Amino acid sequence: MRPLPIGSRIGILGDGQLGRMLGCSAAMLGFDVVVMGPNEDSPAGRIAAHNICAEYTDKDALAELSVRCDVITLEFENVPVPAVQMLTDMDAKVHPGKKSLEVCQDRHLEKQFSQGCGVETARYWLIDSADTLNAALDELDGRGILKTRRDGYDGHGQVRLSTGDDAGAAYEKIGEAPAILETMIPFAGEMSVVLARSTTGEIVAFDPAENHHKNGILHRSIVPARFPADVQRRAVEAASRLIEALGHIGVLAVEFFVLEDGGLLLNEMAPRVHNSGHWTPEACLTGQFEQHIRAIAGWPLGPVTRLMDVEMTNLLGDDIDGHFGLRGPGAMTTLYGKRDARPGRKMGHVVKRLNP
Ligand code: ATP
Ligand code: MG
Repeated sequence: MRPLPIGSRIGILGDGQLGRMLGCSAAMLGFDVVVMGPNEDSPAGRIAAHNICAEYTDKDALAELSVRCDVITLEFENVPVPAVQMLTDMDAKVHPGKKSLEVCQDRHLEKQFSQGCGVETARYWLIDSADTLNAALDELDGRGILKTRRDGYDGHGQVRLSTGDDAGAAYEKIGEAPAILETMIPFAGEMSVVLARSTTGEIVAFDPAENHHKNGILHRSIVPARFPADVQRRAVEAASRLIEALGHIGVLAVEFFVLEDGGLLLNEMAPRVHNSGHWTPEACLTGQFEQHIRAIAGWPLGPVTRLMDVEMTNLLGDDIDGHFGLRGPGAMTTLYGKRDARPGRKMGHVVKRLNP
């Protein structure tokens, strides 16, 4: 693909904060953005040159998007695959492509794919009834984590089970959807690698982030991660194998569990810019949003040299009260423009410089 000319139009499927930050970076590189998503008055829709408010599978809306845009990308991994298929049938260029979505939308396919690339995962069982769940729990002393195969995010669609818990009730709680039961991993920590692959096949990875979750939601990322250099190097290698095997174009985030002995297990992948990469725009010469736009535009990827040690903290719900810009020395705030600060909703984040 020839590099996308300045002034070209980039379509974004998805209208949340990731689309907003992608759109701002696209604008900084001289592109215009068209956002398509289901929400009125959305964070991304409000900064776009043009907003198409429609469901992802609305054929007329997709046709409009394809006519208006030179390349189309996404900020939401659960965009239905048929929507991407319709766009490609209309001769639109869509990056990342169908394969990245198919694999990353289904926890079973994702784990199979990862294992096929030589990247181990937690042991898991396929669940499609209370009976299959009971049988799997028998092998695990009744302990494990039940996750829907599709549509989970921020810990939604998950139930943690302890010995004696009722399988039927747990399966009901996740809506009796196709699921997996995973072993609980006694991890030493969690780490993610955010990396990009461009239309030319060039791959560049940011420094791995050490991640801490609260209630299944990312709370804080610390960079550099406090894991041995060798563990971090292996994580970047594994993530690079995965992005190559997916033929992914754009940014991909790969989340790992780090074991006591330095072993790595893939937790999950996101075929998009990621919360655990929110420190990159402030800390690196090129941030994840710019990098994604460069990758899908066929531009050379930017240098990811990190200029400072950082800690990124999410602002959930009313955490943003009183956040109008900086919060303490060396702290940089990003707000997503969501008007309704519901409890637990991601409203913004703060990147704090750690070294003087
Ligand atoms: P998100 O999309 O926000 O990353 P998600 O809903 O897809 O979240 P997961 O990444 O599967 O959820 O899980 C969220 C967190 O729950 C993990 O980062 C980890 O802290 C914990 N967790 C998930 N699976 C396991 C497991 N098998 N063993 C131990 N902890 C787990
Ligand atoms: Mg996760």
